[in-house]
Amino acid sequence: MKKTYLIGNWKMQLNRSQGVELAQEVVRLWGAQGAANPDVVVTICPSHVSLDAVHQVVNGTSVCMGAQDVFWEDKGQYTGEIAPATLKELGCEYCVVGHSERRGYLGETDEMIRRKVAALLRQNIHPVICVGETLEERRAGKRDGVVINQVREALKDNRPYGTQRIIVAYEPRWIIGTGQAVTPDDAASMHVLIRETLNDMLPADIVDSQMAIIYGGSVEPSNVAGFLAMDVINGVLVGNASLRAKDFVRLAEIAADMTKKK
Ligand code: PEP
Repeated sequence: MKKTYLIGNWKMQLNRSQGVELAQEVVRLWGAQGAANPDVVVTICPSHVSLDAVHQVVNGTSVCMGAQDVFWEDKGQYTGEIAPATLKELGCEYCVVGHSERRGYLGETDEMIRRKVAALLRQNIHPVICVGETLEERRAGKRDGVVINQVREALKDNRPYGTQRIIVAYEPRWIIGTGQAVTPDDAASMHVLIRETLNDMLPADIVDSQMAIIYGGSVEPSNVAGFLAMDVINGVLVGNASLRAKDFVRLAEIAADMTKKK
């Protein structure tokens, strides 16, 4: 059975104690359900400074933890950066890289993202690689070319080994945090192209068993079923709704119901 991923990106929205409270609520609402639905993988991504405290809440439960970013070197004179091994030590199983806010506000390039993916794989942390076009690029008819190029660059010389997984998150940059989503058909058409790109780069069995493509952009309980009904969409990356435990867990419950019916 293919897994469905639900990844909550808390961004810089919560302080440490608020993060702990939200994690406790997610575990309370989803912990037992998650154990009964192992094909729905629920991951929360707190800020770096909350990872340690949040891990104490999720450790040993069905809720996984991820980070929102990482540095590409293992160690050294890189003031303010976080080493991949430290994320591992703190209990991160996943890590988001190349989020549009980092590409936009911090000038992250495809090359930086490629190196971050490599660094995460060295630590057996599953990378969640965000790709997506700006509104200008979409209007200029460049959506497909831009996104495919981002996927190719991030995965150049990178591939999952052993039990590693790589998740590609298609997030149209102009949609994130706006409350408006693209249609499931629109997202699915991009997912098909991403899958074709992965198949072009890597052996089909690796793409099938170790890679997933998820959608992100204003996902809410009211629209998630439309995305998850698409065979090519293997889950969702969630910003705003992941800050509301009930709504976030509702997304997981909908995913679990749909998985059972498939
Ligand atoms: C995100 O930040 O990755 C995201 C998808 O945010 P939102 O769900 O708020 O659009």
